[in-house]
Amino acid sequence: MPKDLKGIEAGKLPAHLLVPCAGGGKLHWLCAAAWNAMVEKAKSEGLELKPTSAGDTYRDYESQKRGFLSRYTTTNNGSKTTRTFEGKTWYLKPGVAPMATPGKSNHNWGLAVDVHSAGEPKRLNWMIANVKEFGFSWEVVPVEPWHIRLVTGDNPTPAVRAYMERNGIKAPAGGATPAPAPSSGGGINFGDKGPRVAQMQGLLVERGMYKKKIDGSYGPQTQLAVDAWKAANGRPAGRGMSAEELKMLGM
Ligand SMILES: [Zn+2]
Repeated sequence: MPKDLKGIEAGKLPAHLLVPCAGGGKLHWLCAAAWNAMVEKAKSEGLELKPTSAGDTYRDYESQKRGFLSRYTTTNNGSKTTRTFEGKTWYLKPGVAPMATPGKSNHNWGLAVDVHSAGEPKRLNWMIANVKEFGFSWEVVPVEPWHIRLVTGDNPTPAVRAYMERNGIKAPAGGATPAPAPSSGGGINFGDKGPRVAQMQGLLVERGMYKKKIDGSYGPQTQLAVDAWKAANGRPAGRGMSAEELKMLGM
């Protein structure tokens, strides 16, 4: 699991961790790089790879729940494929494909793709030969031969690293991620107090702009550091940090 997913709920990824991927939909940025790299190789070998639909890439919690509720029923229909959700047993309806419980799918982390027409022999054989090179695991064959999942966490495979280099995407160094940590809210104003202010002060300390105590209180000394950071980053001067500026700072 990429480190920047720590503390985040499945199906509730912040927008800055998600990027559009080849063929439609969005994925966690590391999975998008792996997927795009693989799609590029397939294309160069005359094979088209795309997701079954945009909804078969990253799936937020609500859409996973909608899909789940449309495929499973609490009425015992004799199906051997069951799930436990909200304290009840759910049975798969006849004629539909199984699906993970909301919050339990790799799709909710943006780390899985369902591949369109994965069962076609040419595509299937290509995937068998190639998914590993890009860090995908194919563990649910034969039930869901279309479902591939990224298993390399913060360590992209050499093929994916090469793709990232070609496209100017910074790979995580030593397992650390360059993507900013999630921000739990909007901007921070002069006079605010609390853990987010402390986090902002810590980041300003790292940049050599704040040299006072990290006390979680946005006063005049913090403002001096904010002024210095804004000047250094071409932001308009003024009190407070907008959500966008906090994101730039790394929150
Ligand atoms: Zn899937």
